[in-house]
Amino acid sequence: MIVEQIWTANDYRNFNYLIVCPETGEALAIDPLDHEKCLARAKDNGWTITHIVNTHEHFDHIGGNSQVAAATGAKILAHANAKDAIPDLDRGLSAGDVIKVGNTVELEALDTPGHTMSHVCLLSHTETPGLFCGDTLFNAGAGNCHHGGHPSELYDTFSSQLAQLPDTTLIYPGHDYIANNLRFTLDREPDNARAESLLKDVDDQDTNAAMVSTLALEKEINTFFRLTNPTVVARLRERFSDLPDEVDPETVFLKLRELRNDW
Ligand SMILES: [Zn+2]
Ligand SMILES: [Zn+2]
Repeated sequence: MIVEQIWTANDYRNFNYLIVCPETGEALAIDPLDHEKCLARAKDNGWTITHIVNTHEHFDHIGGNSQVAAATGAKILAHANAKDAIPDLDRGLSAGDVIKVGNTVELEALDTPGHTMSHVCLLSHTETPGLFCGDTLFNAGAGNCHHGGHPSELYDTFSSQLAQLPDTTLIYPGHDYIANNLRFTLDREPDNARAESLLKDVDDQDTNAAMVSTLALEKEINTFFRLTNPTVVARLRERFSDLPDEVDPETVFLKLRELRNDW
């Protein structure tokens, strides 16, 4: 399986992806907003885009669908409940559905509500898994819930699905927000040396060759996975004096999400 990350260089800092079967050259495009770059990258490499998957229904993820479909005849797939929000959806996805591309690529749909209520992440069936996580999980951060989402659903997605994946899982998010997110981690956890050193590495990174993190690294530097960390909890208590003595991870997550909204 070839993973081609495409930096759009737009104001929203989107990443698009092509997932390619190396045997047949057939490719699946994830959220191909920058249709020109996605089509050109496929053409340059002799790849044929046969599928489009939208992680969710926001415009910066579906905005290139019609151009890519018109140029290639690719089928459009997304969460089954996004059928009214995404024009010309060919196949609605449910949890556990597997998308096959060429002879070698298998991507499993995870039903991951929270950023929106019809969001899928894609997990590759490969020796080292890859997670294409749209706007659910970002490097060092979590998606917002302002546009059709719900924070407690996002917590459930993080705790019951994402945190349970193998630590080796490679993380491929829908946007490049890593530097800003690391600053939020350090605001919440100033003694996080790993986040501090990583920020130095990625602050001016080449987004055409962006660092790819793993779930293990996210658990070190992403405050939304560090819900029982003593510094995170103590700093939260300074902001929310009404927190109970025994604070549960969901409450910590929801308060962090609330703080991040205005940060
Ligand atoms: Zn979104
Ligand atoms: Zn987005």
